[in-house]
Amino acid sequence: MSARRPFDSLQFAKSGESLSGSLRVEELPRLSDSLRPDDVAVQYRLVGVKASGRPALRLQVTAKVWLTCQRCMTRYAELLELDSVLPVARNEAELLRWEALDPLLDALVADPALDLAALVEDEILLGIPLVPMHAEGDCDPDGLALMNEH
Ligand SMILES: [Zn+2]
Repeated sequence: MSARRPFDSLQFAKSGESLSGSLRVEELPRLSDSLRPDDVAVQYRLVGVKASGRPALRLQVTAKVWLTCQRCMTRYAELLELDSVLPVARNEAELLRWEALDPLLDALVADPALDLAALVEDEILLGIPLVPMHAEGDCDPDGLALMNEH
């Protein structure tokens, strides 16, 4: 099975199967600003699991993203290692019932033709820090000096 071929998300969640692979930058158009074509591709692993008795997809993603530090305004690479468990509801009504019980639940509605690349892209977009910043002390001194002039 490949990420390029859509598959049934609920069936996969129930099957307990796993699948892993990598995606190229061209397959993740919404991340074109944050990925470099020469980087190692985004790695993913998807497993059908049960979460609180519900069929779920466990999605693990490793991606090197390029962000602009909001302190010194220079680009830097951050390695994202994401691990989410996404319960799969049979339909919209079931999803609403689950969300009523747990408003913070991050769940999906069953999709007979899940686009895995789009799902991986969503997770990376959610995983990117809202205000990206170098670790303390790692800022580019030139960038900082430039910022302080303004
Ligand atoms: Zn910085």
